Amino acid sequence: MREKVDEIFRKAEAKGRKFLLEHEAKTVCKLYGIPVTELKIAKTPDEAAKFSEEIGYPTVLKIISPNVFHKFDVGGVMLDITGPEEAKNAFNKIIENVKKHKPDAQIDGILVQEMAPSSTEVIVGAIKDPQFGQTLMFGLGGTFVEIMKDVSFRIAPINEDDAQQMISEVKASIILRGYRGQPPRDIDAIMKILLDTSKLVMEHPDIKELDLNPVMVYEKGAKTVDARIILE
Ligand code: ADP
Ligand code: MG
Repeated sequence: MREKVDEIFRKAEAKGRKFLLEHEAKTVCKLYGIPVTELKIAKTPDEAAKFSEEIGYPTVLKIISPNVFHKFDVGGVMLDITGPEEAKNAFNKIIENVKKHKPDAQIDGILVQEMAPSSTEVIVGAIKDPQFGQTLMFGLGGTFVEIMKDVSFRIAPINEDDAQQMISEVKASIILRGYRGQPPRDIDAIMKILLDTSKLVMEHPDIKELDLNPVMVYEKGAKTVDARIILE
């Protein structure tokens, strides 16, 4: 799998990119056992409908463009698509939106993916620190990370104890243990993602930054909804 990941990196670099598009980043994650939403690349509205059918409704459609970093902000994400007509319309609408916001954006297709049911959101990240090397980050989604800076860090590689501590150090992690009648979330699934991410960045020192944001965590299992990887 190391070779397969390297191949994805080299292909992106051959296209002049120092970062991976969402579908490429998710393919890399999947190779290391990190759960991601199932996805296919549509080149036409009919394909968007066909792939939505194959994946199973509801689906999500997203712009694939090396020139769009925040897909949502340019109208490049359409959630909760429930039928073929909607899928075709969403395909066209996304392209229209992106062309309006960024007329010169290169469009490589439309990503069709399963819609992950909403649940508790966490963020798993990695950053290559100039001094300490690959460093992992964990936090809960939304305001906890952005406003409270309620996150934990560990230098990679990490073991199971480290992963467990990374989660429990974050104050908001009480929410994962069951909160206000909500069922507890699958903490083992988060630990596994942290460990797999550690392995991924250790085996690929050319990863400068990795961002799984958000990861939906369920009573059983978890799923990465958006992924970014930046190369050195
Ligand atoms: P951006 O490039 O703007 O970060 P995202 O891919 O993160 O775009 O999509 C924006 C938001 O849409 C996500 O933060 C999430 O709330 C929701 N979303 C995206 N993809 C999915 C999906 N497959 N299932 C459920 N929600 C999704
Ligand atoms: Mg995102």
